[in-house]
Parts: sequence; structure tokens; C-alpha cells
Amino acid sequence: MPIDATAAYDDGNIFARILRGEIPCNRVFEDAHALAFHDINPQAPHHVLVIPKGRYVSWDDFSARADDAEIAGFVRAVGHVARAAGLVAPGYRLLANVGRDAHQEVPHLHVHIFAGRPLGPMLA
Ligand code: IMP
Repeated sequence: MPIDATAAYDDGNIFARILRGEIPCNRVFEDAHALAFHDINPQAPHHVLVIPKGRYVSWDDFSARADDAEIAGFVRAVGHVARAAGLVAPGYRLLANVGRDAHQEVPHLHVHIFAGRPLGPMLA
């Protein structure tokens, strides 16, 4: 069910619960700004989600409210996760769905990293 990206942050969302350690995840990276883990329903051979530690509904919310250190830390974490997995040479795709029409399902910002096969031309 797609979410409303203009809604207030919901502390009960599944990624908030993963951040609090209430639900397990298959973690690949964590630092002060970000947590990265394998998607539970992978759409490519390599499908990792990177989420900020702060309470942000979407990329829109994050880009509007996060401070520069959080933004820099998160962006660097996404790059680090891809590099550490050896994805730069073969290539990878980043995706962040925002709100209803993009079919964002979890109301905590997450960047998808897809890789491991030719991903084809961009959809949409
Ligand atoms: P969205 O459509 O961009 O919001 O993507 C949400 C993603 O979260 C989907 O790819 C789901 O498979 C993934 N997901 C949902 N719950 C979990 C979980 O508990 N662990 C890891 N991935 C999850």
C-alpha cells in the first residue's frame, strides 16, 4: 500500500523498528548516519537498502529537514556500501521512491541499490 509522503513520521514503521533492533535485518553496513541491509524481497541479485538513522519519511523530507552533516553522512554511506560490494565497475542503480505515485511502501527514507545483472534502460 503506497504511503502519503506528506504525512508525519510514524515511529511504528518497519524500518524504525529495524533501527531500534526490534526486528532483525541482514545488515551489511552501519555507521553514525546510516544502516544498510539486504532487501527482504530482492528485485536483483544484489538488492540492498540504505536508510538514514534520523526520522525522515522520504527523500523529500530528508532533503528539506536534515542538516548538512546528516546529508553528507548518508550520501557517503550509500557510496561506501556500493564500493565495498564491488559494484562500481559492473555498475549499479540507485532508486528512492517518494510517495503514492512512486509506490513508496515504507514511510522511512530508503535508497535501493540494485546490481548483479544488466538492469536495462530506466523505467518511467
Ligand atoms: P519501497 O516500495 O521503495 O517503499 O520499498 C520498500 C522495500 O522494503 C521493498 O523492496 C521491500 O521488499 C522492503 N522491505 C520491507 N520490509 C522489509 C524488511 O523487514 N527487511 C528488508 N526489506 C524490507
